[in-house]
This record gives sequence, structure tokens and C-alpha cells, in this order.
Amino acid sequence: MSVSEQELDQFRVEVSAWLRENNPGDPGFLLPESFMEVGTDEQFEYLRDWQRKVYDAGYLGMSWPEEYGGGGKPQVFQDIVSQEMARQRVPFMTNTIGLNWAGPLILQQGTEEDKKKYIKGILNADDIWCQGFSEPDHGSDLGNAQVKAVKDGDDYIINGSKIWTSLGSYAKYMILLARTSNEGPSKYAGLSFFLAPMKTEGIDPQPIKKLTSEYGFCQTFFNDARIPANSIMGREGEGWQVAMATLMFERGNVGGQAGGLSMMDINVNDVLELARRSKRNGKPALEDPLIRDQMVQFLIEAKSNVLMGARTKIPALNTERPTAIAMSGKLRGSELKRRFCQFAMSLQGANGGRFISPEAVDGGKWQRIYFNSFSATIGGGTTQVQYNIMGERVLGLPKS
Ligand SMILES: Cc1cc2nc3c(=O)[nH]c(=O)nc-3n(C[C@H](O)[C@H](O)[C@H](O)COP(=O)(O)OP(=O)(O)OC[C@H]3O[C@@H](n4cnc5c(N)ncnc54)[C@H](O)[C@@H]3O)c2cc1C
Repeated sequence: MSVSEQELDQFRVEVSAWLRENNPGDPGFLLPESFMEVGTDEQFEYLRDWQRKVYDAGYLGMSWPEEYGGGGKPQVFQDIVSQEMARQRVPFMTNTIGLNWAGPLILQQGTEEDKKKYIKGILNADDIWCQGFSEPDHGSDLGNAQVKAVKDGDDYIINGSKIWTSLGSYAKYMILLARTSNEGPSKYAGLSFFLAPMKTEGIDPQPIKKLTSEYGFCQTFFNDARIPANSIMGREGEGWQVAMATLMFERGNVGGQAGGLSMMDINVNDVLELARRSKRNGKPALEDPLIRDQMVQFLIEAKSNVLMGARTKIPALNTERPTAIAMSGKLRGSELKRRFCQFAMSLQGANGGRFISPEAVDGGKWQRIYFNSFSATIGGGTTQVQYNIMGERVLGLPKS
């Protein structure tokens, strides 16, 4: 379906007006910074209501098929909504794991029955999803996952524990990677992938407190938990391939996500504004040549990340190493954010050390953002693992 520039401009005006009118605004309590920090019921309900409202207005899953609850429109409409959301700084979509990786995966690999059962509940936030990949001893080394799934009649019996389960306390379903066999040619061959119902006897998510004193993720214990055998995705022993397809969605390497923000948008311009009102030797910090120099570096990097994103959409500009930009997006974006958040702390001088304190700059916002900025450099594959992937799959270096 071809869409005219005029139609898109008109749509941008419409969505922008809707967001201005419907932005739920300050709830009067601290909002989490991303889907990984949703820790209280009031935060969760507020964010769930917001996602519902966006979906009911037709601004979520706009490019997903209509028969399952999507909008059936070209992706460009959803891109415009997401851009306007970032510009107006509206709250993020809490069901990020469902919208951005479980949902696209089900649309790509699920059965007709799966699509009918799960997609609409993902979009309208009735069904929150979490991800059970990491284990206490197996994070980067995901292929060695040890949580057991043993077939017993019409069920699989699950035992073991997963960790860092974001949204684990609120989720109705988990995308679960578990070991169905220790046999086979490699460790990967014994893994299977499930769409597991969380409200099952024997599944127990226990919240974990973070460095910022917020909650958001859990250690999820499985104790003889019986899940239906038909919740397996693909066949037994094919779990590794399904998990890899999931990670491609999670890292943003391929499109198909439902859209919307997954975290508060803090960007380099916010740091620039902080530099303008911070002081160095009694003068605005931005007058310091070293600070100006660093700010310019950040602005260039941020701009080049935006341009790189645009470049992925023009095949002729990606001939030499076609996957390089998409595969490095998470690495570049998460590391840049961690560095500029660190810089924002250094702008505060001795006050940089104050977090939960009445004297903390901007109520401790920057300290919280700085601590949380490490999340994206770890979740979905650490920075070092991303470097390995780039080395092996883009540059063709030997496997480490
Ligand atoms: C905020 C947050 C939310 C998360 N949410 C979820 C979730 O919802 N579901 C889920 O399943 N997981 C989740 N995770 C877990 C995340 O995926 C893992 O933390 C991550 O994969 C790293 O695993 P690990 O913590 O066991 O670290 P390890 O794998 O033990 O790594 C420790 C260090 O060794 C380095 N390292 C490891 N292997 C290599 C290698 N081959 N080459 C070079 N360096 C290496 C790592 O880069 C890291 O610096 C979340 C993590 C965070 C921080």
C-alpha cells in the first residue's frame, strides 16, 4: 500500500494532537524509568491503563495483522506514533516483552491458534509477558540453560530457577527456554521453547531489589510446575533456534515490533540543558572548553546513531556489510547512554554523590538514570557479547 507524504503529514498532526490531549501526566508518584523497573501495583496499573488507552485509540500494533487485533497499516504509521511519543515524552508501554519480542515471534513462528490466543492480549495489556532465559549460572552462556522440562502425558513438568525476570510479578505468560534433553550432538540440541502460563502451581516469582532500591525483576522458581504440552513453540529440541529469533527482535536487529516507547526518553539534549545550568568555577559549566568539547562529541554520536537508523532503510547504502548497522544498534545506543549519564553526574561535582538526599540535583534523577543505564548494556546480551557477535558475524573473525 503506497501512502502519500500528505497523508503521513496529516496523520502526524492527528497523533500529535491526540497525545497532547491524552498524555496521562504526572501521576503524583515516582514513575519507573523502563519496563524493567515496574515495582509497585500503582505504577503497574497506571502504565497498563496508559497502554490500553493507546491501543484503543488505534496507535499500537498498527502494522500487525487486523485479524489478530492489529491495525493492518504500513509500518510508517507506527514509526510516526513512536517518534511523536518520544517527542512529547509520554509514558512508555509496560508490556514491552510482549509487544517487542514475544508478539513478533508468535506472529512469525506461532500457530494460527497461538496468534488468536495471544496477540490481542499483548496489545491491550490484558496479558503481560516476561522472559525466562537467564539462570543464576547461565546468562551470557544461555546455551547451557539447565531448567528442566520433562514430558509427562499432556504436560511438561518444569524444575529449576530463572533469574532477572523483568515484570515477573505481573506476567501472565513467560517465554521460557528449558532443557528437555541432555543427549544430542550439542548443548543446544537439548533445549525447547515454551509459552508458559505463569499463574501455575509451582511457579513462584520472587522480587529482587535493585541498586536504586527499586524492584522490577524476579528470581522465578519452578517446583514441579505442570504446564500444558501444547505450550511448546516449535518442536522439542528446536528451542535454541526459537530463542535466537527472539533475541533478534529483542536487540532490534529485525523489524516487526508493535511500537511505542519501552523506556523514558532521556537524551543528550537533557544533558546539554543540565550543563547549561551547572556551574564550574562560578560560571556556567557549558562555558568550560573541555565540557563543550565533550558535549559536542556526545551530540555527534547521538546524531550519527539517528542517521545510522535511517541508513538501514536504504539498501544501497548497506551493501558492504549489510547486517552491521542493525546488529550494532543496541551496542551503540546503550553504551552512549551509559557514558552521557556518567558525564551528567560528573557535571554535578561533589553533589554527584548524592542520590536519596534532599540536596540531590533534580531530586536524584540523574543518579537513578545513571544506575539504570547499565541495564541496557547487560540485558539482551552484554556489551562484550555484542562485540563478539559483531566480530564473528559481521567481520567474519574466528569464533572465540
Ligand atoms: C535490568 C535487567 C533486566 C533483565 N531482564 C531479563 C529478563 O527479563 N529475562 C531474562 O531472561 N534475563 C534478563 N536479564 C538478564 C540478562 O540477560 C543477563 O544479565 C545477561 O545475559 C548477562 O548474563 P549474566 O548476568 O549471567 O552475566 P555473565 O554471563 O556471568 O557475564 C559476566 C561478565 O562476563 C562477560 N562475559 C561473559 N561471557 C563472555 C564472553 N563469551 N566474551 C566476553 N565477555 C563475556 C560479560 O560481558 C559480563 O561482563 C536482565 C538483566 C538486567 C540487567
